Amino acid sequence: MRDIVKKFGANVVLDGVDLDVYPGEVVVLIGPSGAGKSTLLRCINGLEKITSGTIEVDGQLLSYQEAEINRIRSRIGMVFQSFNLFPHVTVAQNIMMAQRDVLGRSTSEARQRAVELLDRVGLAEKADAYPDSLSGGQQQRVAIARALAMDPAVMLFDEPTSALDPELVGEVLHVMRELADAGMTMVVVTHEMRFARRAADRVVLMADRQIVEEGTPEQVLDNPTSERGQAFLRQLT
Ligand code: ADP
Ligand code: MG
Repeated sequence: MRDIVKKFGANVVLDGVDLDVYPGEVVVLIGPSGAGKSTLLRCINGLEKITSGTIEVDGQLLSYQEAEINRIRSRIGMVFQSFNLFPHVTVAQNIMMAQRDVLGRSTSEARQRAVELLDRVGLAEKADAYPDSLSGGQQQRVAIARALAMDPAVMLFDEPTSALDPELVGEVLHVMRELADAGMTMVVVTHEMRFARRAADRVVLMADRQIVEEGTPEQVLDNPTSERGQAFLRQLT
């Protein structure tokens, strides 16, 4: 991302943001509520249109032509706070749908991939269950499997554990750590500082519409240099 400006009407939400995320890198994005973290993620996959600047994803400049944006979106997996599974179909069907509709995979191919991914997130036995019968942590793991089924170049997570009961947070972070260890390129907005310390290659702290700190977890979390960064981290402890 280069010199990204995003306005909502007269409200400037991102003001000159530069961010690089390299293949295989895990970037954890932190910062106060309202800093623009969700907006930044939504700009990466074109859910929000930037006011100015440029974004390149997987070697392609982001444009907003429909065919183009759909192609780029299919390369980006997104996991939200709310899992948004389709309630009227099974877990496996949730994971198969876009594989067939967007990637043109056959039903048997899509099913095979769904089963593999469910195994990877520890839910092999839930393929034919309905989302309602799963806990929040299980549903979020299905949502992760669904995003992975598209073989994304990058995975974006927007506070994936914020809606979960505390005892269910760990199982989701565990899956995310395994994904990070397996070399997935990830941008993760989270308030889970333990995850940031253990999984992040780089921590990026946003405040006041800009990136105010960027570096290793130790640099950013233990030795912030900006006043905004210091203030944010102080109120966490
Ligand atoms: P964060 O995720 O860091 O809490 P957001 O990106 O959600 O921050 O929001 C940043 C700012 O942009 C906030 O002031 C918010 O009110 C504003 N904002 C976000 N989405 C919209 C929208 N769709 N329309 C208008 N303002 C928005
Ligand atoms: Mg947000």
